[in-house]
Amino acid sequence: MPMVSSLDDVLEAAKEIAWSNLGDRTLCDACLGRLLGKAGHGLTNPERGRAVRERFRLPAADPCWVCRGLMAEIGEFATLVEGRLKSLEFATFLVGSRVDAEIVAREEALWRELVATHAEAIKSEVNREIGKRVAERMGKEPDFAHPDVVVIVETAFGTVEVKVNPLFLRGRYRKLVRGIPQTRWPCKRCRGKGCDHCGGKGKMYETSVEEIVAAAIIAQTGGSGHALHGMGREDVDARMLGRGRPFIVEIKEPKRRTVDLANVATAVNASGVVEVEDLRPATGDEVVTIKEERAGKVYRVLVRFGAPVEDEKLKRGIASLLGRPIAQRTPARVSHRRADRVRERVVSSIDVARSDGATAELRVTAEAGTYVKELVHGDQGRTTPSLAEALDVACEVLELDVLEIQDTG
Ligand SMILES: [Zn+2]
Ligand SMILES: [Zn+2]
Repeated sequence: MPMVSSLDDVLEAAKEIAWSNLGDRTLCDACLGRLLGKAGHGLTNPERGRAVRERFRLPAADPCWVCRGLMAEIGEFATLVEGRLKSLEFATFLVGSRVDAEIVAREEALWRELVATHAEAIKSEVNREIGKRVAERMGKEPDFAHPDVVVIVETAFGTVEVKVNPLFLRGRYRKLVRGIPQTRWPCKRCRGKGCDHCGGKGKMYETSVEEIVAAAIIAQTGGSGHALHGMGREDVDARMLGRGRPFIVEIKEPKRRTVDLANVATAVNASGVVEVEDLRPATGDEVVTIKEERAGKVYRVLVRFGAPVEDEKLKRGIASLLGRPIAQRTPARVSHRRADRVRERVVSSIDVARSDGATAELRVTAEAGTYVKELVHGDQGRTTPSLAEALDVACEVLELDVLEIQDTG
């Protein structure tokens, strides 16, 4: 019988404890059993405590010297937690606690005096026992890695803090228009409060991919805020076409977590500005990996030449840029937010889709992190070689679109 052998393990370990050092201090079954909490499997601490009390003829708690009755109040704490969680929609949870410092100090003093080497900390039993009751009563799953909600019980004050974890959805977006940023761009003068500089809006652009996508989700889930994490970002004046760009949208403190993804896609796509596809649930860990992925990209670039450029000359100029390192010093336009340094990037192909001597439409396939506008116009020598340098003609970028993100997903 496994139960018998488990209890035997507990009683065997209990022989090593210096029970005589307890003196006239009395302990409840839970606190007594916790001194041997890591001995014997499949038992509760009160079961361990009862067995030890009988075997070593220890007196009953009057009151418990360690917890002063705290362990008898676990059911009440669970009721408190239940009350705070019942208005939320969630599937998984985690219980944490802050146990009165005096209780922890008495418990740790006892470990040393009794030489208890198999003891479990009170905090861990409080968390587990409240969690067990909440799971049973509410039919929810404890989850240590990615809980929907985290509750922290403050035992000294009998209060419960509830932290609703963000909801993450992953997908791909297309940005069909120029002139909106990927993420909400707060006004740097007023930092969101609203001022003359931003026309009282608190932001530099009327809307963004982030705001359009998040609004469609928050309409279903509620929530206190949002963030969008993209696999890189396109310029405000560039469209994002093709299969779109992978992203994760984060909804903070959602009231509901069940999302009709098809409905979100329909609402976003109806904007006529942004489209989404492949929406699915994601985790916070994926935010890190999506930000790390270094995907190559295919661009459409419409260039206007400062002087006529014949097709043969254009082709020769393009050929001189391929398969060799392009040195790009941080562009003047982003130098206020990025360190000034020189990066080397490789452009694998540039195809001419159309050219008439005055303008040309190019398809550029470039390594992650290539500044394509600068590759074309040269950024006053900060990017070298460039198309302008190779042709010895000024090149102006009229339009830029991302056609493809070459990610592994
Ligand atoms: Zn106790
Ligand atoms: Zn402002």
